[in-house]
Amino acid sequence: MDLLNRHDAGETVEWGDEKWEVTLKVELNQTFTPAIRETLSLSASAIETYLDCPLKYRFRQVDKIPESPSRPQLTFGTIIHRVLDRFHVADGALSAERIVVLLNEEWRPAEFEYSEREKKLKSQAVEMLTRYAERISTAPPNVLETELSFSFDLDDVRISGKIDRIDDTECGKEVVDYKTSKRSTPAKKSIQLSVYSLYLQQCEDGKLSGIPDKATLYFLRDKEQPKHSHSFSENELELTKEKIADVAKRIRGGKFEPSVGFHCDWCDYKTLACPSWES
Ligand code: SF4
Repeated sequence: MDLLNRHDAGETVEWGDEKWEVTLKVELNQTFTPAIRETLSLSASAIETYLDCPLKYRFRQVDKIPESPSRPQLTFGTIIHRVLDRFHVADGALSAERIVVLLNEEWRPAEFEYSEREKKLKSQAVEMLTRYAERISTAPPNVLETELSFSFDLDDVRISGKIDRIDDTECGKEVVDYKTSKRSTPAKKSIQLSVYSLYLQQCEDGKLSGIPDKATLYFLRDKEQPKHSHSFSENELELTKEKIADVAKRIRGGKFEPSVGFHCDWCDYKTLACPSWES
């Protein structure tokens, strides 16, 4: 049995000196349940993390156990987002040459631990961004916003996040979220997209307000069909609100059970602290 299981079973546990163990010990001795009416802050990705695995949410958001310092895929995703943000500034040429120049400016080898891995990721970045620029230059979007930070309240829950891009299209507003993951997933199931749609639904800025006509995940690695879109209905957004309220209730109630699945393969806590993977 691992330390956490033994603690939860009421046994006396001898904690070690590792930073995460010291942090976890302090956290476990505190009541982390916020007062009933205290506002709980959740980002769209924190909600997704909780829905994937409540225990992972707890390790990351409550116990604040540090994840691996070397996370090349995360660094890679951040660089790609920085490049795409700059690519879509007003009057910028939507060419493959320019996007590669931006990539070279944003790419910092020091951010990667291993040079072989860095080389491979850089060539993937050139390939996916070149393809993106070639595709988008055939139908340039009318961009309203990029990297739009937002925050709004749903009762006693404050939701925050950042929308990669909002376009004004012939069919109305479209929100776009870039993805560098290898697996493409349906837009309809994306909590992130439904949260962005909820934000715009209640937003008072004239050019942005109202449920977007289309919400799109743009999978940059997908050569055949990079865009996965969905139009969220009012009913679907009501269901998202209920889901968020339920997540908040469970967090306040201290419900952090592990949920084992394929996502464990990308979870740093699998080898750090997760009781479900103790051998
Ligand atoms: S390894 Fe899996 S079960 Fe354990 S915390 Fe991570 S996602 Fe949850």
